[in-house]
Amino acid sequence: MSWQTGAACRDADPELFFPPTDDDTSLITVRHKLAVAPICRACPVATDCLRWALDTGQDHGLWAATTPTDRRAIRRARLAGVPDPVADDEPMCPACALLFPMPAVDGQLCSRCSERKEPA
Ligand code: SF4
Repeated sequence: MSWQTGAACRDADPELFFPPTDDDTSLITVRHKLAVAPICRACPVATDCLRWALDTGQDHGLWAATTPTDRRAIRRARLAGVPDPVADDEPMCPACALLFPMPAVDGQLCSRCSERKEPA
């Protein structure tokens, strides 16, 4: 995992990224997520981090500020054929990005979202 050398969390307290519970409805998890979000937002390897967490099925911890529940939702979306800019290394579609807690970097809609916006 060479991307880890560029991680913004390298010197952060690891306990911040691993709340004592993975229950998204827990106030503890929400607080941890709020605490790590600014770090992950500024992290230059956030996409690699999230891709790794998704590809390796990480079921614990906050990776790229996503909870295990967030990542299960992303994996379900992948299985349903929703465009996955993290897996596909494509620029993020602003519409699809709603599914992904990552910064949208491209102003264009992906082809699937463009098709959905076309009048019938
Ligand atoms: S995105 Fe967040 S959890 Fe992932 S490497 Fe960067 S700072 Fe760490």
